[in-house]
Amino acid sequence: MPAPAPIRLSKSKFVTGVQCLKRLYYQVCKPELAEQPDESLVARLEQGNEVGLLAQSRFPGGVFVGTEQGLEGALAQPHCLLDDSSVPAIFEATFQHQGVLVRVDILQRRPGNRWRLIEVKSSVDVKEYHLYDVAIQTHVLVGCGLDLSSSCLMHLNRDYVYDGRQYDPAELFTIRNLTRQIWKLGAEVPKLLKSERKALALEHPPDIAPGRHCSEPVPCEFYDCCNPPVPEHHISFLPRLSDKKKAELLDQGITLIQEIPEGFSLTENQLRVWTSVKTGRLWVSNDLARELSRLKYPIYFMDFETLYPAIPRFAGMRPYSHIPFQWSVHRQMSAGSGLEHFEFLAEDEKDPRRAFLDSLSDVLAKRGLIVAYNAAFESQRLSDLAHWMPECAEKIARIQARLWDLWPFVKKHVYHPQFQGSFSLKAVLPALAPGFSYEGMEVSHGDEAGLAWDHMVRGDLDFVVRQRMKSALLAYCRQDTMAMATVIERLKALAQARGGAGEI
Ligand code: SF4
Repeated sequence: MPAPAPIRLSKSKFVTGVQCLKRLYYQVCKPELAEQPDESLVARLEQGNEVGLLAQSRFPGGVFVGTEQGLEGALAQPHCLLDDSSVPAIFEATFQHQGVLVRVDILQRRPGNRWRLIEVKSSVDVKEYHLYDVAIQTHVLVGCGLDLSSSCLMHLNRDYVYDGRQYDPAELFTIRNLTRQIWKLGAEVPKLLKSERKALALEHPPDIAPGRHCSEPVPCEFYDCCNPPVPEHHISFLPRLSDKKKAELLDQGITLIQEIPEGFSLTENQLRVWTSVKTGRLWVSNDLARELSRLKYPIYFMDFETLYPAIPRFAGMRPYSHIPFQWSVHRQMSAGSGLEHFEFLAEDEKDPRRAFLDSLSDVLAKRGLIVAYNAAFESQRLSDLAHWMPECAEKIARIQARLWDLWPFVKKHVYHPQFQGSFSLKAVLPALAPGFSYEGMEVSHGDEAGLAWDHMVRGDLDFVVRQRMKSALLAYCRQDTMAMATVIERLKALAQARGGAGEI
């Protein structure tokens, strides 16, 4: 009886199996258990396609191999092209060897009928898992009889600066020769393939415990299958709890913060969380009132939203430069006075940087504290603007000098059991000010805001949808600055309610 055909694997399945055999098993045998791809994953895929097309433009005369004729057609076509010496490069050619199927981003013809294998990535450097991606392709191409001169990875060049007119693919990309690393890895590939096929032949998923590999190098779409949600106040919510301490607690059967016995060695921050959870009450530092009294009015609560595309969009930008497209500011002139709101949102795909900065500096005027949550982000975006518009650098430096970060202040002075180990505004706001939250908002995360804006200004949307997106973006950014003002007010009330450190 002939031996059964080996289980067919693709390049991406092979790489999945390197990350986790159980993930590979689920992808092949239980795909229905996967989480649905979210908008950010879809956007990343679209971005990858855009990067791939630009990479191809570096090889003029290259021929693209489609898949319209099915697998057999796709497998046959590269061979005609390989023999045609007038073809300098082949894009997306499909090859198969011993049941492993790969589509090669770029095959560049080299002298002596040799070939350079090029895998294209949207990253700005080589990551370890990319090596396996190139290694499996090398394995298949060599198995198919191609004479490879080198195996390379082509990624975006982080130092490339777009001139605003035309992309120069020779500068936009860096090609790294990985031949030596790939040959070293070569012996591992057949062993990895063997273990992947063995795992796929099982009746049940392989017994693999969850761990760091569930989110690295890429988040696993079956995360929820293996990682049941941890209960409220799980010990993993203790800030910076070392693996050793965690294991020590788990060994003693302790999974919840409130079960940790008094006297167990914890850091000051961990102790604060322990106290708050154990008593079920808010913890407030001794210094809160004194430090709050240092805040002088007027106060501007400020927040930026940005998009950071792989391919730079405007002159002076590099891959993944942030495009600042929206800001919100709430101004409070004196303690206890009302808040005034100001905002900016770029509504078309033109370069928004100048309008962003001019409108912002008008509102911020010349004096007053500027409060941001994780102010390093806003400060870095202002530095970007100073770099692009050196004539505004002094004005920008004066704005930066007025920045004050509410995030470390909250970390230092308050903890509520409902924070659940997080100091993000989304966790802090509803705990300190019940009734305020981000729940139900159409845009509720920074990355979502970036994607929504991109869609709004570049998508083919009708007027109604565009208006809805605009409202959602404005509401989200406004909520962030409103939240900061609310947190400060709430902290002031707490400081007044008690004199010293402890629970409230
Ligand atoms: S969640 Fe983790 S253990 Fe489970 S399949 Fe994914 S990577 Fe593997």
